[in-house]
Amino acid sequence: MPEDTSIRIPRHLLPADGRFGCGPTRVRQSTLDRLAESGSAYMGTSHRQLTVRHMVGRVRSGLTELFDLPDGYEVVLGNGGASGFWDAAAFGLIERASQHLKFGAFSSKFVGVVSGAPHLEEPDVIESQRGTHPVPSPSDRIDLYALTHNETSTGVTMPVRRVEAGGLTVVDATSAAGAMQVDPRQFDVYFFSPQKAFGADGGLYIALCSPRALERIERIAGSGRWIPPFLSLSSAVSQSVKDQTYNTPALATIFMLADTVEWMNAQGGLAWSSERCAANAAMLYGWAEKHPMAEPFVPEPSMRSQVGATIDFHRPLSWAHLAATLRANGIVDTEPYHKDGNHLRIGLWPSIPRSDMEAFIACLEYVIEATLG
Ligand SMILES: *Cc1c(COP(=O)(O)O)cnc(C)c1O
Repeated sequence: MPEDTSIRIPRHLLPADGRFGCGPTRVRQSTLDRLAESGSAYMGTSHRQLTVRHMVGRVRSGLTELFDLPDGYEVVLGNGGASGFWDAAAFGLIERASQHLKFGAFSSKFVGVVSGAPHLEEPDVIESQRGTHPVPSPSDRIDLYALTHNETSTGVTMPVRRVEAGGLTVVDATSAAGAMQVDPRQFDVYFFSPQKAFGADGGLYIALCSPRALERIERIAGSGRWIPPFLSLSSAVSQSVKDQTYNTPALATIFMLADTVEWMNAQGGLAWSSERCAANAAMLYGWAEKHPMAEPFVPEPSMRSQVGATIDFHRPLSWAHLAATLRANGIVDTEPYHKDGNHLRIGLWPSIPRSDMEAFIACLEYVIEATLG
């Protein structure tokens, strides 16, 4: 049944930018303007020549600064996004057996990739109740621990702490990277895509790799295991150190990523972006806790995501009606990932200024009041 979306939010309440999705996220207008201004100087030129390699170099040095990477860490880039990195990890990063903390759709997908790999042993899979995160269980059999810094599908966040058991600590940071503080000494690989906190576009993966991870990649590459060339992490490393990629990347993505990383560094780096997200999160969760018709989906405050909030609503409010009404008013992409609850998912990204977050809440309140009459 089509939703009745006739409620009109007064113009003065609307945010300056209506994009509140959890990924892709809003691309800043100034970034798009700079891309357009680059005209014929960048887009449509060879990725093997200095113009593009210089842009890849800006991404790599900008991320090294943003994450304060210790000596010996490398910023590795390849095509395929975070999903492509799962496949690459199954071939080139897991030696025999991995352990996965499974607490939502994205961590489940990584399990799916590894479970089907004929050259690997059955993975350990540790689950927890919806709206919480499990904890690792160190074991001699395990050579890679797969964590997720922020499970975007449920809005649950977990601390990134190295598992002290000999295996690599590999973190899916797709939605957390750039928006949450992290200590690079606590991970071996921290991988992500550019279309979440970095407000660029999809298609690329970035993996921040420790010396132990780089050593593992080279060892497996030299072991005789068959690895599809496109998914070879070893060739991704050797191309990345030359500011290149194995095959042609989307040049606009690289431009927008470089632009945003430099913007974040200029604003004050990860401390600044994390602070902005935490402030947006405090505002929205605080509102939901006080509102009689809403509440945060994640019960434990320390597990609530500061990059994308899941907010539950009480009947007769329905997520479908709220999301459709917001959409009809230009506020888009608040639909939930899992459609079995009654909630909305709302981005809290570094690109969202306080004024837009306040406006979003005012609009949501307006729609709730107009709906309940
Ligand atoms: C979005 C997301 C992915 C998938 O990213 P793609 O770039 O679409 O492959 C993986 N993991 C997490 C945690 C995500 O939020």
